Amino acid sequence: MKNDATIRIDIVKAPSSKIKSVDFENLTFGNTFTDHMMVCDYENGEWQQPKIRPYGPIELEPSAKVFHYGQAVFEGMKAFRDNDDTIWMFRPEENFNRINKSSKRLAIPEFPKEYFFKSLEALLKLDKDWIKKGFGNSLYIRPFVIATEPGVSASPGKNYKFMIICSPAQSYYTGEVRVKFSEEFSRAADGGVGFAKAAGNYGAQFYPTNLAKEEGFQQIIWTDANSHEFLEEAGTMNIFFRVNDKLLTAPISDRILDGITRKSLIAMADVYDIPVEVRKISVKEIVEAAKDGSLKEIFGAGTAAVINPINGFGYKGEKYELPKLTESYASFLKDKLMKIQYNLAEDPFGWRY
Ligand code: PMP
Repeated sequence: MKNDATIRIDIVKAPSSKIKSVDFENLTFGNTFTDHMMVCDYENGEWQQPKIRPYGPIELEPSAKVFHYGQAVFEGMKAFRDNDDTIWMFRPEENFNRINKSSKRLAIPEFPKEYFFKSLEALLKLDKDWIKKGFGNSLYIRPFVIATEPGVSASPGKNYKFMIICSPAQSYYTGEVRVKFSEEFSRAADGGVGFAKAAGNYGAQFYPTNLAKEEGFQQIIWTDANSHEFLEEAGTMNIFFRVNDKLLTAPISDRILDGITRKSLIAMADVYDIPVEVRKISVKEIVEAAKDGSLKEIFGAGTAAVINPINGFGYKGEKYELPKLTESYASFLKDKLMKIQYNLAEDPFGWRY
């Protein structure tokens, strides 16, 4: 690991840009990638010089450990362009810390902070035209790490690739969302990897989510693996429940991802005098609140959609619908948070970067 002053990013620019072929008005989330990517190899016990290369395929041996043992972690973050053409990120240090926390749990060597920020800045400078103006437009940034060492022995790899790829995104309308409270399947267990953004956590959700889709739900709200009595989080979002005027969200644990949107919303709710209780939330109390009308809102919170309102849920064969509110916490908090992200409001928290 070289110290800050000596870091140089090795840059090879794309011979031409693909940007003209992209319809920025009709983007599907996560399907279009910018002209460049960052690649940094871990070899001989240290991270080598970060490189920026034209976005494209990489070559790996079929025996690379990532394919066999799932040694892979990732992050999701965004960059925004304000009305004066300044590019902002939202709390990127949190993502940096979290990818290293995830790496550590998967026995992947941690990535140096200077490499992360210098290469990210160089990449965003090169691909800045892909970050479009307008409330809701952003660049979704996907850092990830994979074990590249060939060999099928079940032990941690000696070689890794840290990469960053970027995908332009529009604001994300999912339509009406109905969720199923998980009764049988679990996402994470005590002592496991739920708190890490480990690739395998996501792959393992697809099958139960497909079954829920067959029943007419879009997503699953995961319950605790021991009893399935407590509501924990959604597939790629933390979850909030509004009962009367109070917001409830589950505490962070080794089963739940410490979401940056979640903690930002908790801090903002405090400023706007919205009472928040961070505690275990039972399925029973939410079902009862839905029945007696005190359940006003459920919403997911995560980088991709910021806040995703949920219209109803299903549990044990029953379906429950949520009221349609004109003044929801979801839309209030989403607007306040996005205004900070786009430099349209003061940032008393110091979250913009
Ligand atoms: N939970 C899970 C399982 C996630 O994958 C994500 C997305 N990173 C979140 C919650 C939300 O986290 P954040 O607000 O940091 O995007």
